[in-house]
Amino acid sequence: MENRTFTRSAERVRAASSTVVGGVNSNFRMGVAPTPLVFERGEGAYLLDIDGNRLIDYYLGLGPMILGHSPRDVIDAAKQQLDVGLLYGGQSELEYRAAALIAEMVPCAERVRFAGSGTEAVQLALRLARAVTGRSAVIKFEGHYHGWVDSVLWSTSTPPEQLGPEDDPVKQPGSAGQDLPAGQNVETMSWNRAETLLERLRKGDIAAVIMEATMCNSGGIFARPGYLEAVREECTRHGTVLIFDEVITGFRVGPGGAQKRLGVTPDLAIFAKAIANGFTVAAVAGRGEVMDRLADGSIMHGGTYNAQPVAMAAAIATMDRLARPGAHDGMERQGTRLMQGIESAFTEAGIPVMVGGYPQIFTVNLGLTEKPCNYRGLAKVNKAGYRKFTAALLGHGVRALERGAWFLSTEHDDAIVDQTLSAVRAAVSEVA
Ligand code: PLP
Repeated sequence: MENRTFTRSAERVRAASSTVVGGVNSNFRMGVAPTPLVFERGEGAYLLDIDGNRLIDYYLGLGPMILGHSPRDVIDAAKQQLDVGLLYGGQSELEYRAAALIAEMVPCAERVRFAGSGTEAVQLALRLARAVTGRSAVIKFEGHYHGWVDSVLWSTSTPPEQLGPEDDPVKQPGSAGQDLPAGQNVETMSWNRAETLLERLRKGDIAAVIMEATMCNSGGIFARPGYLEAVREECTRHGTVLIFDEVITGFRVGPGGAQKRLGVTPDLAIFAKAIANGFTVAAVAGRGEVMDRLADGSIMHGGTYNAQPVAMAAAIATMDRLARPGAHDGMERQGTRLMQGIESAFTEAGIPVMVGGYPQIFTVNLGLTEKPCNYRGLAKVNKAGYRKFTAALLGHGVRALERGAWFLSTEHDDAIVDQTLSAVRAAVSEVA
């Protein structure tokens, strides 16, 4: 495989910086080595950039493109709706059908409300939990990301050595300019430690516990056996709303998300990303008893573009496909091959590595010799080494996230995974 260059992308990003700040429109698109890329089109598992490179893509738009970059059924559904109507400022049959599909697939989803982004849906879920319980305090966990707004951007990617003692963590803001009082009712904890959490819940003053049921934003880490069950039980006992943020896991790790796979049902769950294969759809879904509090209008939930009809048509087409028996099997198989192949490539080169998560979304943690059980367990991850690896991998035609995550799509077949693993071995030999 020849080594690719990205000079046109680099030049274009640099030139565009005179109008688009830094040449990018999200912090998650900054700092990419050797340069942020500029793309012309997407096809199946591939992206084509302006340097003429055809790259196997494991970014997948940071998760949404579960059916690949050009799924005919989703595109046709959206096109059909484009001819009919763009935005009604009222209801359409499409949003009712989309909500019914979520209810069929997701265990907790007795009721649904759509939102514009995962961040907005998190805001709605937390507001709802506070209104329903009449309490203010919310518990979130280190390394769990729930969006970029002031109220939840706490201890998300803080260097672990700045987090203080594990039993008495120091809550850290995630951004300059963050309104610190917006987090005064947020308590951060170290995840996967049942006793400390259960003890805190027993005081009976917590409105909500929010977590990624499997930690995907950092590390690809599963809950310890019994942890989620214990949290579920204690939340029920003390009237705390349990929220699973399934923005990454929803519809991706299986039709019913992480909650179905893990067998633990939260009160509320947040969905986005894979729900609509690239269209801007997010949702809060949950127990009728909790969700129905939204019905009288006393809890404010707005959003001009909520349930936008074209996006709803795309969501229906996406979920229709993901609801079919065996829809996730190919990703399960190919993801497993990749996880094993990547692990072997590093191990054979004498580089310690831990690969964790689901085959449909896993994370490669370079430099670890012990399986991490929470964010603090990631302190020794060799971030600089992994960045070198992803830069080398890009040169061999494979695009994977610098922070370790790999997203699979239904379009990543045997041949593509074989090609990826050759590229992985070549990149490892360059950085070893
Ligand atoms: N929650 C999780 C688990 C996420 O991974 C993300 C985004 O990556 C969000 C919430 C925020 O979603 P959005 O970027 O759609 O606002």
